[in-house]
Amino acid sequence: MSEALDLGFDPNTLRQKYRQERDKRLREDGNNQYTEMKGQFSHYIEDPYCGDVLPREPLTDEVEIAIIGGGFGGLLAGARLREAGLENIRMIEKGGDFGGTWYWNRYPGAACDIESYVYLPLLEETGYVPPKKYVEGKDILAYSQMIAKQYDLYRDVLFQTEVKEVHWDQAVSRWVVQTNRGDAFKARFLVMSNGPLNRPKLPGIKGIDSYRGHTFHTSRWDYNYTGGDVSGNLTRLADKKVGIIGTGATAVQCVPHLAEGAKQLYVFQRTPSSIDERNDRPTDMNWWENQTPGWHQARMDNFNTLVSGGVAEEDLVNDGWTEIIRNLLLMIQTEKDSGLSMEELQAKMELADFQKMESIRARVDAVVDDPRTAEHLKPYYRQFCKRPCFHDDYLPAFNRDNVTLVDTNGQGVDYISEKGVVANGVEYELDCIVFGTGFEVGTDYQRRCGYEILGKGGESLSDHWHAGARTFHGLHVHGFPNLFMMGHTQTGFTANYPHALNEQSKHIGYIITQCQAGNHDVVEASAQAEQQWVDTIVSLARMNEQFLADCTPGYYNNEGKPSERSLQDANYGAGPVAFFQVLADWREEGLMRGLDLNSA
Ligand code: NDP
Repeated sequence: MSEALDLGFDPNTLRQKYRQERDKRLREDGNNQYTEMKGQFSHYIEDPYCGDVLPREPLTDEVEIAIIGGGFGGLLAGARLREAGLENIRMIEKGGDFGGTWYWNRYPGAACDIESYVYLPLLEETGYVPPKKYVEGKDILAYSQMIAKQYDLYRDVLFQTEVKEVHWDQAVSRWVVQTNRGDAFKARFLVMSNGPLNRPKLPGIKGIDSYRGHTFHTSRWDYNYTGGDVSGNLTRLADKKVGIIGTGATAVQCVPHLAEGAKQLYVFQRTPSSIDERNDRPTDMNWWENQTPGWHQARMDNFNTLVSGGVAEEDLVNDGWTEIIRNLLLMIQTEKDSGLSMEELQAKMELADFQKMESIRARVDAVVDDPRTAEHLKPYYRQFCKRPCFHDDYLPAFNRDNVTLVDTNGQGVDYISEKGVVANGVEYELDCIVFGTGFEVGTDYQRRCGYEILGKGGESLSDHWHAGARTFHGLHVHGFPNLFMMGHTQTGFTANYPHALNEQSKHIGYIITQCQAGNHDVVEASAQAEQQWVDTIVSLARMNEQFLADCTPGYYNNEGKPSERSLQDANYGAGPVAFFQVLADWREEGLMRGLDLNSA
């Protein structure tokens, strides 16, 4: 009781409330609830930005390194390999230009939700000055293209090209890359950077195909229909009744623009996001010009340490992401006994989390006029169960007369009719439905990347991973020589994703140059190294198992169904700081331990 009085809330009551909210969202079908964008739904993933496919002859030649994906992962791999002196690089990209997630996600309001000075890679190398603390999507897209130009990656790139199959040709020790443009070229090394959220998904609701109005997914925004551009001004919606399904990080950024443009906007909510303040501001040029060489890596490391629960003397980024750890450290510093056990530390962590989320909920009350709407917009789960959001215009949008929040009490909308969306038994007639329903995460890797991956003896990656992911360092797979996987599976994951991609790229650059220097034609993870890494991943993931099981469902916890398989598919549980150190120590050792090397 005294604890409740001191804190201003009762942890037991909150714990119970979180459990109730999670329980009502749990569903048997988990990941299977979503509808895959194929067959009759494949038009949802067509490229609306690029126009006609430019004709070209199929390629059957050979390159040294092929990189699949032109987003930050591919760009960073390309940049680091160029720095290592490698010239013969070919990139393959489904879109019409570089940019990856920022190529596809051009919805109005798209912006970086991590500070630009740590999110944008290669800032010291390119000399680019982000105009704001949280740079807009269109600037990130332009910056991606600037990186490609600076590192001469336009020289041999295949845009508008979808890989259909990659297979290892044992006779010549080369990968063969086959595409939808008739290509079948060889590559000695293959880097796959397909993106963690590249495959949009539709909600698993009956009737999507029967709807007669207009629809699109946020990652393929239809400006022909809405008018305007990434900055908003959706003038063609002025006489339209629009519904958006989903209230994740994407919807939070585009809802204010839909609210401004549409005659009437209905926001269909299953789970509210946590919305903290954004507090964006232009870059202080005085501060910028006083940065000394090495500042960018130091700032990325500082942010990464703090958001991973580590201790740093200073909080350089100093925003909502790092605040929760600041609160925790403050709590521990006030403790007489600083030698807390792991359980005591976790209990403190939970309290700091409760405090943070109480302030998030109080913010909803302070901003949203209608108390009932405000209540529905309050998230009841721990902050890192879902991607935390930061926005100054999202909550105020619900004070507009033309905006209605349709909360579904955790159940999602009922179905889609010919005329609109049915939720809570009520039919909302709509001219347009926008699907802000996110991307596939827990589904089969090959399904998400959209092509077959066949290693030695024709073994498919799906077969090799039938019981869960199997890698060494998240990068190599036994039986799939000269292949490098970039991503988040079995590797260090950080909220600042490009930072992780940068570390992976440096590591790939090191291994390829070592292979060349030693005249090693083939490099492959040993079966033993792979098994040991899988064991490490699973045992570390167990430390986080309870936290995830207690979370509200979402893609962070396999839609509320953490399993042995999802433990194996997890990232490196000791955190990204420790993982980057594992890679650095491994390189420092210089023995290529765990990799089998064969000379030509
Ligand atoms: P999310 O997966 O986060 O959100 C999908 C939304 O759709 C959720 O609100 C979900 O509800 C809802 N939904 C799914 N099915 C139904 C249904 N049947 N009825 C009603 N609602 C439904 O996708 P986003 O595109 O919003 O974000 C994906 C990720 O992209 C983020 O987590 C973030 O990592 C990244 N991102 C990053 C940005 C950046 O600045 N760096 C900006 C935007 C996105 P529920 O929560 O209940 O599942």
